[in-house]
Amino acid sequence: MSHAAARLLQWFGARRREVPGRSETDPYRIWVAEVMAQQTRISTMTPYYESFLGRFPDVETLAASSLDEVLKAWEGLGYYGRARNLHRAAAEVCERHGGRLPAEAAELRELPGIGPYTAGAISSIAFGRPEPAVDGNVRRVLSRLYDLERPTPARLESLARELIGRATGAAGPLNQALMDLGSSICTPRSPKCGDCPVAADCLALERGTVSERPPPRRRAALPHHDIGAAIVWREGSVLIARRPAEGLLGGLWEFPGGKVEPGETPAQAARREVREELGVVAEILEPADTVRHAYSHFRITLRLFHARWVSGGPPWKAEGGPEHGESPCWTRPADLSRYAFPAANHGVIARLVQGLEPAH
Ligand code: SF4
Repeated sequence: MSHAAARLLQWFGARRREVPGRSETDPYRIWVAEVMAQQTRISTMTPYYESFLGRFPDVETLAASSLDEVLKAWEGLGYYGRARNLHRAAAEVCERHGGRLPAEAAELRELPGIGPYTAGAISSIAFGRPEPAVDGNVRRVLSRLYDLERPTPARLESLARELIGRATGAAGPLNQALMDLGSSICTPRSPKCGDCPVAADCLALERGTVSERPPPRRRAALPHHDIGAAIVWREGSVLIARRPAEGLLGGLWEFPGGKVEPGETPAQAARREVREELGVVAEILEPADTVRHAYSHFRITLRLFHARWVSGGPPWKAEGGPEHGESPCWTRPADLSRYAFPAANHGVIARLVQGLEPAH
C-alpha cells in the first residue's frame, strides 16, 4: 500500500469524526446523510438528519409519503431540489429495485439527484465498492497532495482511484479519510500541515504552493432581482399559493408575487402579480417585510406588503378553513406553520403566527 493511502487510513481509524452517516451501515441512512451534507454544514444538518430519519426511517416510508410532508421536514435546510429528488428517487428504488438501493455507482447515478460524488460515496461507504467520491474537500486535498495546477474532474478521479486501488478493500474509509482531512486539517485557508498525516507525501507542501492549490473557481457575479409580493388579507385569513413542482423552490408555498418589471414599484408588481397569477384584486396597504436572500444563481430583494382583498381568487370558506394542500387557498395565520415556505418568508411568518403583525 502506498504510504499516503496507508497513513490516511491509519489517521482515519484513530480519529474518526462524529459525522452523521459515518458510523452508519444502512445504505438508505448513508444516502440521506450524503444528500443533506451537500451545501449544508454538519452542525446545521445534524438535527435535521435525526428528525428526518425518525419521520422517514426507510425507503418505503419516504416513497409512500407526500411531497408536502417531505418538504416540511426539509424546511429551513434550503436547496429544496435535494428533497424533491430524494422523494422521487425513493419511489424509483421501490419500483425498480424492490426497495433496496443498488450497490453499483452506475446504477445509483440513474436515480434522480444522485451525481458522481453521491454515487461514489454510497457505493464505497455502504457497499465497499472501489469507487472514488470527489467533493470539494477531496478536490482540495488531492490538488495539494499532487500539486495539481489544473485539477480537472478526470484527473482527480484517476488519482482518487489510484489511492483506492492501494487501499485494498477499504475504499469507503479511504474516501471518508480524504473528506475529513479536507474539512478538518487541509482547510481552504490556513491548513494545519503540522498535524497532517500525509505531510511527508504532499507535493504542494514540498514545493511551497499550498496557498495556490487548488486554483480558485471563477464565479460570475450573481444577478439581482427585485421581487414584490403581497400578504392578501380577507377577514383575518391570508392568501397563499404553492409554487410549481419543478424549478426553484418547487412545491413550496409562498405569498403571491413576482419580479418587479421596469418602471414598476415593488408594490405595483405585487398587486399585478396577484391579479395575473391568481385573479385576485387587492389593495396594497403597507410594507410588511424586506428580505435580502442569495440563492445559488441569483440574489433577490423581496419586498412584502400587507394588502386587502377586494375581489376574485380561490373559494372562500368562512367555516373550517381551507383543505390543506389546495392551492391557492386562504389560511389563518396560526395555521401557516403547517406549510413549507422558503427561508425568505420565515421572519414574517413567525410574526404572523404569533399574532405580532396586525390582521388587516
Ligand atoms: S500537508 Fe498541508 S497542504 Fe498537504 S495535504 Fe496536508 S494539510 Fe493539505
